[in-house]
Amino acid sequence: MTGQPEAQVSLSAVEVQRIKADFEILEHQVNGTDVVYLDSGATSQKPRCVYEAEQHFYENANAAVHRGAHTLAVEATELYEEARETVAKFIGARTNELVWTSNATEALNLISYSISNASLGRGGDEAARFRIGPGDEILTTEIEHHANLIPWQELAFRTGATLRYVPVDDEGALRYDLLDELVTEKTKLVAFTHVSNVLGTITDTQRFVDAARKVGALTVLDGCQSVPHLPVDVKALDVDFMAFSGHKMLGPTGIGALYGREELLNAMPPFLTGGSMITVVDMEHAEFLPAPQRFEAGTQRISQTHALATAVSYLQEIGMERIAQWEEHLGALLYEGLSQIEGIRVFGPKDIRRIGTVPFEVIGVHPHDVGQYLDSRGIAVRVGHHCAQPLHRALGVTATTRASTYLYNTEEDIKALLDALGSVREYFG
Ligand code: PLP
Repeated sequence: MTGQPEAQVSLSAVEVQRIKADFEILEHQVNGTDVVYLDSGATSQKPRCVYEAEQHFYENANAAVHRGAHTLAVEATELYEEARETVAKFIGARTNELVWTSNATEALNLISYSISNASLGRGGDEAARFRIGPGDEILTTEIEHHANLIPWQELAFRTGATLRYVPVDDEGALRYDLLDELVTEKTKLVAFTHVSNVLGTITDTQRFVDAARKVGALTVLDGCQSVPHLPVDVKALDVDFMAFSGHKMLGPTGIGALYGREELLNAMPPFLTGGSMITVVDMEHAEFLPAPQRFEAGTQRISQTHALATAVSYLQEIGMERIAQWEEHLGALLYEGLSQIEGIRVFGPKDIRRIGTVPFEVIGVHPHDVGQYLDSRGIAVRVGHHCAQPLHRALGVTATTRASTYLYNTEEDIKALLDALGSVREYFG
């Protein structure tokens, strides 16, 4: 840890080395060399304090939350709710506006299924504003991760609504100029990503929010690739919902969250039902607790919430603005460096704000071969369609190789990748 207060300057190379030392796995040897981990877009590595927090929970406070009279249950509940407060504050939300889910995928499905239930008449008059049906439209974009596309395809299927999307241009830039045409009185929900998991590009969220507000449509932001890398404040962004995953922001797997405006969450019918989310149950019907509990059926992920809150405190201590600046610097090094290597095609527009995520292809070499070649040099990248087949189709490829950074990546990591790629075409003849 750096112990530095938040300031409007990037991390220094020395600080990054100190941060790196908190991540034991980065000392791991892969094929005879220290691993160069450039796959944080898929999942981040975890600092020691995060898995120690999980261990601490099991050694000191393990119990089911919310329904025990005994001391351990009280302590577990306190940690669980404190974690909610920490993570909610981190994104600028109120504590009861944060629902725990297993990941972003579940958070997005929660909204989709809740709207289906409202459309079937569940939730009565209070939920009427969520009802959609034939003639209504849902709008998403061509750059989405499948997790922010398929739940809306399924919602359209279940309700008879129509799914439309904002396309990209040849470079993969969103066609904001089409928003006015695509958002109409029929539009009930607009779902879009804050940062593309493939291109690393940062969306102009204001344009989506303004367009949606004009027609009273709900907004759903996929914050999976922004919350780990940028300062994010849901109130400043003015979105209705935001989904994100803990494992991409130094936290453990199995924990994610949905932010929703309080009045919306309290009016929405639940998605999963069962124990822990009710007030009164008889053999014919049940009444539900207010949010967030109405969306947290069953025994919850308690150690994971505590570990995620520990991860958030770690990020806050370093400062999100400083992390963002460092990663933008690494992203620029990646984009420029890759663009200069002959035989490599870099995807994504040049003049746009991006995090440290850059996709590319080595012309004539399959991305899986590129991935294996890099792995033989200890460099971990991701290959394939990155759960974004429509975007790849729009870019005219079926797969790419993606390098993605985080706060523990150094300039030397980028250099190692660029050096290895300098000879990749010779290697494959
Ligand atoms: N949205 C984006 C932009 C992502 O990058 C990912 C994961 O890669 C997801 C959604 C889904 O996240 P999870 O698999 O943690 O639910």
